[in-house]
Amino acid sequence: MEKTKLLYEGKAKKVYETNDPALLIVDYKDDATAFNGLKKGTIAGKGEINNRVTNHLMKLLEKNGVPTHFVEELSPRQTVVKRVSIVPLEVIVRNIAAGSLAKRLGLQEGTKMKKTVLEFCYKDDELGDPMVNEYHILAMEYCTQEELRLISQYALKVNEVLSAYLKDLGIELIDFKLEFGRLADGTIVLADEISPDTCRFWDSATGEKLDKDRFRRDLGHVEDAYHEILRRLMGE
Ligand code: 5GP
Repeated sequence: MEKTKLLYEGKAKKVYETNDPALLIVDYKDDATAFNGLKKGTIAGKGEINNRVTNHLMKLLEKNGVPTHFVEELSPRQTVVKRVSIVPLEVIVRNIAAGSLAKRLGLQEGTKMKKTVLEFCYKDDELGDPMVNEYHILAMEYCTQEELRLISQYALKVNEVLSAYLKDLGIELIDFKLEFGRLADGTIVLADEISPDTCRFWDSATGEKLDKDRFRRDLGHVEDAYHEILRRLMGE
């Protein structure tokens, strides 16, 4: 498997075409951004950790009935994935109020939600990823009703599987963001990444934040937090 052409460079990843039109190579960077690109920095080792954590969790999800784009880890920072066209939605699942939900509803961070909360945002940097509901999604044809039903079902399944798995490792899954894509035949699969960049992970015992909020909020020990997640998941 060889990279042939840079297809896309995002804030945290580069994506390359390969000699197989159905497969892409994702290359994770150490670059970190927050607040829609306003805050920039690097987190040493992040590319490797996010690649390995994502692949570890994608494999776990596949085993538990959630189809994903994962094919094969090529190297510590690079992974072969199935080519998809991304559904332009950020799918956010929340168990405990934090971040924008805590702010919007005036809740103290750490408040347990009585029911899992599912949110959708339209992926558009210029608009700042506005929140949308089912009516907007169908009216704008971001995806079909059947796709939305499947995406919602998969997102809740991801929450069930990951919450239980992480709990045993002493990690509370507060919230996370997923992205889905369509294969050439229209099959919906989980795409993008699942990492400390895209999830809130709190230590179950101490409540310590082990995710990108350490970077967003200048809490220090950012690299340590990413390494701690890798250590708990992979035992190193
Ligand atoms: P919030 O809406 O509270 O900022 O984020 C909710 C959850 O989704 C957090 O776990 C956060 O990391 C993730 N999330 C939401 N939007 C983005 C985004 O644009 N990029 C990344 N990396 N994560 C996001």
